[in-house]
Amino acid sequence: MPTSTHATRKVLGPCSHILVAANTGSWRLERPDVDPELCIRCGTCAMYCPTACITVSKDKSEFPLTFDWNYCKGCGICGNECPKKAIRMIPEGGE
Ligand code: SF4
Ligand code: SF4
Repeated sequence: MPTSTHATRKVLGPCSHILVAANTGSWRLERPDVDPELCIRCGTCAMYCPTACITVSKDKSEFPLTFDWNYCKGCGICGNECPKKAIRMIPEGGE
């Protein structure tokens, strides 16, 4: 997970590093919402998340994903990359 984040920062340059590292949780317009019935805990979403703010639990007694809302940008990449379409974007503050 940290490897992809570092690679993204390197490609996009120092400005992206600042934006990725900044606590921008309050700027978000949408946030990801995971359906635990569809999620197979594969980790693809966490691998592609540009801020590495997704933690995947392999323990089936726990909810599959945890998001660090301080750093999630609401970009939707996690939902786009999910092979099971288990993540949908919902309005921030809604539902
Ligand atoms: S990519 Fe989709 S199926 Fe895989 S862990 Fe993330 S939400 Fe679950
Ligand atoms: S919406 Fe973007 S920043 Fe937030 S968890 Fe998904 S990929 Fe990461």
